[in-house]
Amino acid sequence: MKMNSTILVIEDEGQIRKLLQINLESNQYAVVLATTGREGLMLAASHQPDLILLDLGLPDQHGQNVLVELRQWFTKPIIILSVLNAEDDIVKALDAGATDYLTKPFRTGELLARMRSALRNSKKEAQITRYSFGELLIDAVAHVVKRKNEVIKLTATEYNLLLILVKNEGRVLTHQFLLKEIWGVGFQTETQYLRVYVAQLRKKIEINPNNPIHIITESGIGYRFQS
Ligand code: CA
Repeated sequence: MKMNSTILVIEDEGQIRKLLQINLESNQYAVVLATTGREGLMLAASHQPDLILLDLGLPDQHGQNVLVELRQWFTKPIIILSVLNAEDDIVKALDAGATDYLTKPFRTGELLARMRSALRNSKKEAQITRYSFGELLIDAVAHVVKRKNEVIKLTATEYNLLLILVKNEGRVLTHQFLLKEIWGVGFQTETQYLRVYVAQLRKKIEINPNNPIHIITESGIGYRFQS
């Protein structure tokens, strides 16, 4: 028997909740519904869902707070659903560990596609230790990076940066997130560090560092690894 993924929906608007429930259930997901941030946090702990859809405008607290609370222990995908579409809100949610972000009104087909991708990545993350992208190969157990079978020498920081980008393939990682993950708390504003290391890394792994195909700049937000 196929195990269905459990999706927790934290959404206060009845109509959207209903719409999500119908669409998710007809796509064979098990659905758990919460209408407030507090209820969402409780159900996340008791049901251990595989993915959370989180509205930012909740009646009892801002969804951003719920996100921050969840990320203290919840490692699976969280997709934000919000009417807010300012770059600031997107950056803030991504910084706090959101996996993806969809603005309302959203197309159900697009939401389902993003969910599949997030679920696939989160399963992959747990198992995969070797990544290959065309001529590029990254062995996360041996800590070896190769192109066309030739070892590329990376410093520890370059390697850590590459690995975190690769593990989150397709996802935008913000400057703050990368700085915190690689250099630690207190370095979140040192974006010039990142610029320097991204440039070095591109010189080593990209065929044309001036026109990178793997490490993509998301202007004003961060970087994204593309296969
Ligand atoms: Ca709402």
